Amino acid sequence: MRGPRTPATDTLEPRSATPPSGAEVRRGPYDLCAFCPDLCLDRCPVAEATGSSALSPHAKMLSGWWWTHGLATPGPDLARLAFQCTGCQACHEACEHGVDVADALFRLRAEWTAAGHSPYDRTLFTGGGVEAPEDLIRAQARVIPHRFFVPEAQAVLFAGCRALLDHPQAVRDVLAVFRGLDIEFVGAAEAAAVCCGYPLYAGGLWDDFARHARRVSDSLRRYRLVVAVSPCCAHTMRNLFPVVGVEGPRVTTALELVAPLVMRMKREPLGQAVAYHDSCFLGRLLGLYSLPREVLGHVLGMPPIELRRAREESPCCGAGGAWDRVAPAEAAVAARRVLALAEDAGSNVLVTASPDCFVHLNSAGKAEGSPAVNVVDLFHLLARWLGSDPERAGARGDARGRRKPIEGPGS
Ligand code: SF4
Ligand code: SF4
Repeated sequence: MRGPRTPATDTLEPRSATPPSGAEVRRGPYDLCAFCPDLCLDRCPVAEATGSSALSPHAKMLSGWWWTHGLATPGPDLARLAFQCTGCQACHEACEHGVDVADALFRLRAEWTAAGHSPYDRTLFTGGGVEAPEDLIRAQARVIPHRFFVPEAQAVLFAGCRALLDHPQAVRDVLAVFRGLDIEFVGAAEAAAVCCGYPLYAGGLWDDFARHARRVSDSLRRYRLVVAVSPCCAHTMRNLFPVVGVEGPRVTTALELVAPLVMRMKREPLGQAVAYHDSCFLGRLLGLYSLPREVLGHVLGMPPIELRRAREESPCCGAGGAWDRVAPAEAAVAARRVLALAEDAGSNVLVTASPDCFVHLNSAGKAEGSPAVNVVDLFHLLARWLGSDPERAGARGDARGRRKPIEGPGS
């Protein structure tokens, strides 16, 4: 196991700032990959979903090698290769040399985008709330009851734009779990109804990302802790803000916050077998493999069913690196491959601890011929176990203790 970009829960301090510079990543990683016989090919969800070895980590890194050796001139066609990566880190995990392909390719995106070679319109990466904070503020006000907006709160919930716009149930479930566990110190704030900026980073718009990161960080600095619903947002603030020289706020995931309380709570387990999928952001990037399994084991009364590829080898669902924006059809194929793994493991319920993965897997699973697997958010399951009805978050008491069966999409 190569380990997360930074350790999880026990080390919440941001990394030291490393200003972006294309020059600093020249040659080294590209040279290693250029002369490697594609040893990590089988880990790459892009190569797997497209069936194209021309999109293997080795092949994509050749674009940087050609460029740094003066053998190719950057242009949209060359730059397009650098965008065929979900940032999943699966190849990094497998690489004997420890090459961080995603980091190298994302830096290429930034360098070539800044030079005007991106094949994509910038609006592809600025939609979904990045440049429309008022949409997020309105969405948040619809999802989070007014009583959670406590100006003196020490910690603030960071719902994230994917959850607010596409999966508001994820936010309701988190609030319901907070209610069920009597967590009352996490409030809501307009300042936290903002995109973390990951699409700007993944889209190669690093100047915009740096400005955005600074704004987000400044507006959240007064809180002692930012509680992110999405592991992607936590990774971005913890690990990617420093890449553009911004010290992020102190951030944790909602899962890390509730896990110790869940484990102490004695309740009848749900007793249902479900499979679990490791999201790249929670697993390879934040290092949280055992925590979700422990929580699930406690709640279910049995360990979750393991997929054939799990933990460090877990396949990406295709939602990361803005790949679902630049190649939506192929990204959906990657998602259906993950659902098929659950089916192969004999489960018709697949639990994810990432709202971003939930949205992508759930959407891909609706296509005709997709594996008959229901995707369930871990917090949805937790809320059911606690009998804390998501629709009545904040209505203390009367719903606690009741339990409903685990349901699938749209439940
Ligand atoms: S990341 Fe490692 S295993 Fe993969 S192509 Fe590069 S050198 Fe080879
Ligand atoms: S980070 Fe993931 S998507 Fe990108 S090249 Fe490596 S395995 Fe493929």
